[in-house]
Amino acid sequence: MKTVKNWACTALILLAVSGAVFAGGKGDAGAGGVDAIKKAGVLKVGVKSDVPGFGLLNPETGKYEGLEIELSKLIANEIFGDPERVAFTPVTAKTRGPLLDNGDIDFVIATFTVTEERKLTYNFSSIYYTDGVGLLTKTAAGYKSLKDLNGKTIGVAQSATSRKAIEDGAAALGVKVSFAEFATYPEIKAALDSGRVDAFSVDKAILRGYLDSSVGLLDDTYAPQPYGVATKLGNKDLAAWVDGLIQKWLKDGTVGGLVRKYSL
Ligand code: GLU
Repeated sequence: MKTVKNWACTALILLAVSGAVFAGGKGDAGAGGVDAIKKAGVLKVGVKSDVPGFGLLNPETGKYEGLEIELSKLIANEIFGDPERVAFTPVTAKTRGPLLDNGDIDFVIATFTVTEERKLTYNFSSIYYTDGVGLLTKTAAGYKSLKDLNGKTIGVAQSATSRKAIEDGAAALGVKVSFAEFATYPEIKAALDSGRVDAFSVDKAILRGYLDSSVGLLDDTYAPQPYGVATKLGNKDLAAWVDGLIQKWLKDGTVGGLVRKYSL
């Protein structure tokens, strides 16, 4: 009896170990490669919901639109032969990384700037678009450039590249600014409207989503923001596969066509 018990115990351990090895193999546990997405039956992509031309949830149609949405659909088409087999999750600068890490989404295609530091934490594809950091201010304040913001407070998003870009730009001009950090862009816009901050800084593409009759974009552009498709760090197969697609679409004019379609 004892022997049978021991045998069963060994078999269980072996099963558990082989399961762990299998889960940690090709494509990494959690997220998985293309086969895992096929098996799930739907492609899960983290996108922006408030960036016109990139990822925007159109309140009139209730549908997502923009270059990053179309890239997601093209990827779904490669996997399933159906561009609509994609589920979008709205993300922010703060939530997109953790959602990838958890395996809740397969890709982030959400104005995600590729930096050397971030490459240590995520895989990024080739660059499909390069934006730049800008400043949104109240028109009535009469600011023309960062130089006019000496002693003022700039609203930036947590986990975004904006703060560093403006810090470097201000240092180069010999201008002193302070920062207030927020989790989301609507919060920064509300702070700008109420006068809690004097300027709202992030990529110009994102700022365009917050333009209204009382605010305007300054001409200055700081720090190029190259966007790539991000995957979970351990998911090298999926990263290489999607990079191949992005490279192909850069070469054959697909990406250029989308840039023109959305006037980016
Ligand atoms: N693109 C910048 C970044 O990745 C701005 C933040 C954002 O994408 O929301 O940090």
